This record gives sequence, C-alpha cells and structure tokens, in this order.
Amino acid sequence: MLGGMQDFELRVPRLIEHAEREHGQREIVTWWADGTTTRTNWAGIGRDARRLAQALESLGIRRGERVATLAMNHSRHLVAWYGTIGMGGVIHTINPRLFDEQLVYIANHAEDKVLLYDKAFQPIVDRLRPQWTSIAHYVCFDSDGPDSFEALIAPFEGDYRWVEGSEREPCMLCYTSGTTGNPKGVLYEHRSSVIHAMAEIAPACFDLSAQAVALPIVPMFHAAAWGLPFAGAMAGVKFVYSAVNDPAVLCSLMNEEKVTHSAGVPTVWLSMFQYMDATGRKPEHLRLVTIGGSAAPRAMIERLMRMGIRVGHAWGMTETSPIGTIGSPPADWAEMDFGGQVDLVCKQGRVPFGVELRVVDDEGREQPRDGKSSGRLQIRGPWIIKRYFQDEQGDCVDEENWFDTGDVAVIHPCGTMQITDRSKDVIKSGGEWISSVELENAAMGCAGVAEAAAIGVQHPKWAERPLLLVVRKEGSDVDEAAIRDHLKDHVARWWLPDEILFVDSLPHTATGKLLKTALRERYKDYRLETGDDAAQPIAEAAQG
Ligand code: AMP
Repeated sequence: MLGGMQDFELRVPRLIEHAEREHGQREIVTWWADGTTTRTNWAGIGRDARRLAQALESLGIRRGERVATLAMNHSRHLVAWYGTIGMGGVIHTINPRLFDEQLVYIANHAEDKVLLYDKAFQPIVDRLRPQWTSIAHYVCFDSDGPDSFEALIAPFEGDYRWVEGSEREPCMLCYTSGTTGNPKGVLYEHRSSVIHAMAEIAPACFDLSAQAVALPIVPMFHAAAWGLPFAGAMAGVKFVYSAVNDPAVLCSLMNEEKVTHSAGVPTVWLSMFQYMDATGRKPEHLRLVTIGGSAAPRAMIERLMRMGIRVGHAWGMTETSPIGTIGSPPADWAEMDFGGQVDLVCKQGRVPFGVELRVVDDEGREQPRDGKSSGRLQIRGPWIIKRYFQDEQGDCVDEENWFDTGDVAVIHPCGTMQITDRSKDVIKSGGEWISSVELENAAMGCAGVAEAAAIGVQHPKWAERPLLLVVRKEGSDVDEAAIRDHLKDHVARWWLPDEILFVDSLPHTATGKLLKTALRERYKDYRLETGDDAAQPIAEAAQG
C-alpha cells in the first residue's frame, strides 16, 4: 500500500477531551432538588471526571467493573459517566422507578461495585442495602457528609490520563425490563456510543451544535438519556439540567437559560401544556423538541408545531442505543400543507446512516416498503445489540444480525417508518414500562384470586394506565381493597392498577394463554376515572 490513515480508537474519553479543549467554557447548568442552581462548564466536567477517575481507582475499582448510579439529571451525574468510563469502568445507570425486586436483581446481576445516588433515593438505598451483595461503596451525590460525592473527589487534583484501549470495550450498561423474566442488560461499547453520537448531532437527527442550549428531560437512566451526554460533548452543547421534573421549574429554566432543544417522553409535554394553560407562560426559545419512548399523540405534535417548534418524533429501544429512527423535514416539506406536515411527524421517521430496518411477516419474509404491509420490525447496525449482558442463551440476532424489536410496523415508500402496534403486552405509563405479566402474577398471588389480566387502557396524562381484570376463586369474596393491599407489597406503587374490575371469566388462546388482544379490544373505549390522580412516577420514585 502507498498510503493509509491513522489509528484512532473511537473511545468515549475522546469526547470529553474534545469538549474540554474546544468548548471548555460552554456551560452546564443544574437546578438541584433543593432549589439551588449551580454552574460549571465542559472544562469543569472534564476536570471533575478525572478527579472521580482517580477516586474510583483509589477505591480499588478496576477496568471493566461496574459503577452504578441511582440519580436524576445533574452535572455530577454527567461527571460520573465520564469519570467512570474514562478510568476504564462501565457506568450502570439504574432506573429508580423500578420496584425493589428488580432493583436488587439488576445491581446484583451487574455486580456493581459502587453506587452513586441522589439524596432523594436514600430510602431505596436504606431498604435495599442488605440485599445488594456486590456494592462496597455508597456515595451520595448531593449531601455534605463524609460519604458525599464532593468528599470522594476532594483529595484529587485531576492530573490523570484517560485509560486507553480498544474501541470495542464496554463503557455503559442499561437494563431493560421485558414482558417476561428478569430484566436484561444492554452493554454499550465505546465505538457504538461514539458512532451513535456522530449520527445524533446531525441536522436531520437532533441538530446539535455549539449554538444549541439543550434541556434533556429524558432521564439519564432511560436508555443512556438517548445518547445526549455523549452527543452534547461532541457538539459543545450547553446543557441545562433539572433534577426535578416540575413544569414550572422546566419552563423557567427554559426561558432564563434560553433553551433551544429539549427531549423527553410524551407525558412531560402534557404536563407542560397543562402548566401553560394554567399560567399563560410558555417556553420562548425552543426550536426543536425530540419526542420518543412511546408514540407522540397528534394533538401534542400539532400544538408544538403551531408554536413554531420543530418536532423530531423518534423511535428506539434500549437495545438500539437508543436511536432507531427520527423524523425531520424532507425535501418537499415547504410544499406540504400544515395538515400533511403533521401527518408526517406523527410517523416515527427515518433511519440515520448506519441503521437498517426491515419489516418481515411471520415466516420471516421481507415485506414491501409500501406503507401498507405491516409486520415485525427488525433492525441492524453498529449501535444495535448483538447479545444481552451475561446472557447464556447467546446472541439475540439472526445470522444476518437482524434484531427483532417486538414492534409491529409499516415502512412507507419514502423510508418513513410507522409503528402500528407492538407485539409485546407491556403497559406504557408515561413512557415507562409496566409489565402486565408481573402485575398479573402478583395479583394471582393474592388469596381468593383465580386469574388476573392486566391491560393498558387510555389515560389522558400517562398515555396508558393498567386496568386489572380479576376472576375470583369459587366461593371467595376477595375485594378490591384486599387485592390492592396485597399488590402494594409486590410491585412499585406507580404500577398499581388504576382500576380493578371483577369478571366471571377471561378469554384464552388455544394453548391456554390469556387472549390480550381480545381484552384490549373489549376495553378499548374504557375510561379510567382516576385522571390526574394516578401515581406520579417521579414523585413516587423520590419517595422511594
Ligand atoms: P425502551 O427500551 O424502554 O425505550 O422501550 C422501547 C419500546 O418503546 C419500543 O420497542 C417501542 O415499542 C416503544 N417506542 C419507543 N418510541 C416509540 C415511538 N416513537 N412510537 C411508538 N412506540 C415507541
């Protein structure tokens, strides 16, 4: 060969190095749970990340070991990501909204060595500490004591060189809870995270640059905060974080800090709209809002677009890092009327370079991209899962690397993908999953319950909330209060069904499985009476 290019492993620490060097003064603002605000910048994040790397090494953490977080969005959480990954560790973001059994399983399965947590989750830590078998160090992000984050990094100067290695080493672990069995870990690699970030900053994706001021409402524990901590460093974005998800706080922050970009599940925008209607206030500088996690309702898209905001409707999964598709204005956007534009944004968008999609029928035959032929949605690419963490069953893709998403979709001739259904029966409440199977199993553990089925029914605020259908054992007079009492000890409080109905029998398939499709059809127009009083996931999590 006459020439060639340089070796350059695509490793995450290069992102923070770049941000420190090229965008060092770009701010990272945090609104903390106690109402105080702090300001740092990419240079400060980089320095503190190196101090944390030194601190973790002093605790004996070795390359490849997992450092867990149980925390909302804030600058120290960002430091924890870069500090852990930079010293060769794997950052494991745990979702505090999971219920105890899952929290215990996940931390033990990941063999977490350190837990960095918010004071708001102290009750969870106190409760589960005896059951977490591998965690040796507990550090509180936002307290002052000797066990605090600041005390941990205080002795160190930050004179540290990031650990080098292969781009194929792991850097992050996120668990996803499916319909059956235990949660599964998705292990992101340095390379997959960097390539995902490169795709994400593009104009047709999140459109991030050094002009962007982003307030990610999506939590750092939900699918790597959609990759934003990595993409933000790459583009030199100013981040504005809020450790609380109160629309009044979010709206004030958005206006005071001139936030141009935001991202979150549909529910957060519903709360924002209620706040706007009640107060007459609105975010003044927003240019682009990315919505994903569950389907964004048409009215929401339309309202944001009428405010002059571009809506990026994204689809993805923890298994896809998570960006699979995202909508952006196509070539003929200006010629479309407003209704046509909204129609397009209601669909889940197109793939960025690197990702390939196809829809197959039950026999695995690829379906035409005609906007009509629906089937199982499959995906492959450099930031798509190949095998779950420590999964003895082997790869979760076929021989051509196609990963079956469990979603049902059509692909339109223009490449736009549209989710039409999902093959899973999970109940999506405010963008978070409630496993119908686990809810049913818990209910069936209650004396007097013969059979139970949990289905999601429409809810004005949370998109879906669980409705529990119960068949009593013969002769039993078990009532709603007794079932609720029993469930409280077995599932997270925000999983509790909004309503419990008693029925004589439940429909079954030929193999004896519950026929969920028939139940969903039967209750599709069912109106829950709970309205806004339904369990508020974040408040619940904060209360432990
Ligand atoms: P998670 O891994 O928790 O992020 O959940 C991934 C699942 O959320 C996908 O398989 C879809 O069922 C659903 N999902 C994510 N984004 C969307 C969207 N924009 N529209 C419809 N469903 C979505």
